[in-house]
Amino acid sequence: MGFSTIAIHAGNEPDPTTGAVSVPIYQTSTYAQEGLGKHKGFEYARTQNPTRMALEKNIAALEGARFGFAFASGMSAIDAVLKLVKAGEHVILSDNTYGGTFRLFDRVLSNYGVEFDLVDTTDVSNVDKAFKKNTKMVFVETPTNPIMAITDLRAVSEVAHYHGAKVVCDNTFMSPYLQRPMEFGVDIVVHSTTKYLNGHSDSVGGFVALNDEEDAKWIGFIQNSVGAILSPFDSFLVLRGTKTLALRMERHDANGRAVASFLAEHPKVEKVYYPGLPSHPQHELAKRQQRGFGGMISFETGSLEKAKIVLENVRLCTLAESLGGVETLICHPATMTHASVPKEKREKLGITDGLVRISVGIEDVEDIIEDLERALSKL
Ligand SMILES: *Cc1c(COP(=O)(O)O)cnc(C)c1O
Repeated sequence: MGFSTIAIHAGNEPDPTTGAVSVPIYQTSTYAQEGLGKHKGFEYARTQNPTRMALEKNIAALEGARFGFAFASGMSAIDAVLKLVKAGEHVILSDNTYGGTFRLFDRVLSNYGVEFDLVDTTDVSNVDKAFKKNTKMVFVETPTNPIMAITDLRAVSEVAHYHGAKVVCDNTFMSPYLQRPMEFGVDIVVHSTTKYLNGHSDSVGGFVALNDEEDAKWIGFIQNSVGAILSPFDSFLVLRGTKTLALRMERHDANGRAVASFLAEHPKVEKVYYPGLPSHPQHELAKRQQRGFGGMISFETGSLEKAKIVLENVRLCTLAESLGGVETLICHPATMTHASVPKEKREKLGITDGLVRISVGIEDVEDIIEDLERALSKL
């Protein structure tokens, strides 16, 4: 079956009680039992909830995974995956990862004896060299935020498996419509469903998809033991969101390409970071690994003052953190999403004071371009 068919039908069976075509929001904390030990498979809603379970089937199917678990946020999903790692074990982490992921390793997991090294995973030989005797996991994000560097998922998976380690990929920026990491050997996929999967900027959530039965048992055990579950209402929203994922991603991708080409030709723009441009150093890899290039673009204006002028003169594009919603959002990584990264490290990663990031929405692209044109004309 094709992606859109799976998106609309996986997990979305008519409700057994009423035939409701949309999975209801089962807003309940517990379930009546017929007698001691006699129940319908539902005991307590932290452990089982039909709305959440429908979503778990749905996104697992979209990633081509056997098992899926929905969490209260992307961060709680990532935290659950890192509970596969024990004190004294080591993780190789993409050096350009989402700030919250870095903070989780740096400020939280380090207190519990989890070792990690930041590695530029865009060159697989760096990954190979970073392995230690106690390395259990390689955690990558591709493309990275905000400079859209790409990691070769097949190459990294081969190296990691040779060393007996698991590979985790944060697939938030692409969504399963544009990239399916498991097809390249990745073991575990994580998502912030807050972004493209829900797609409407009205819910915070996270997801873990995987195939290994033992690991899945543990992730399920953690989900129930720690309890960072996705609520029934949010599960409903994300389930509704994934029904249009293919359509939305097609449009994000088409609009993204058009906006990137416009920016690349604009005399006031010094540099554009978008894997769909032939000038992107990993354009060929992006073409191999992704079904499209998506809606995330960053561009260099040259200075903080210039970035400020652009950000203060857009009208349609909304100045805000986050991404992946239907509306175009624009932000300033150095002072917003990456403010906690020390300036020196930021500059090394290419996150300069003049860098502006856009999450291109699904509005009419001429309107987005006109808005950017007006703001850039003030420079
Ligand atoms: C937003 C984001 C996260 C964190 O997800 P939350 O839902 O905000 O907890 C993790 N990884 C990436 C790539 C993200 O963009």
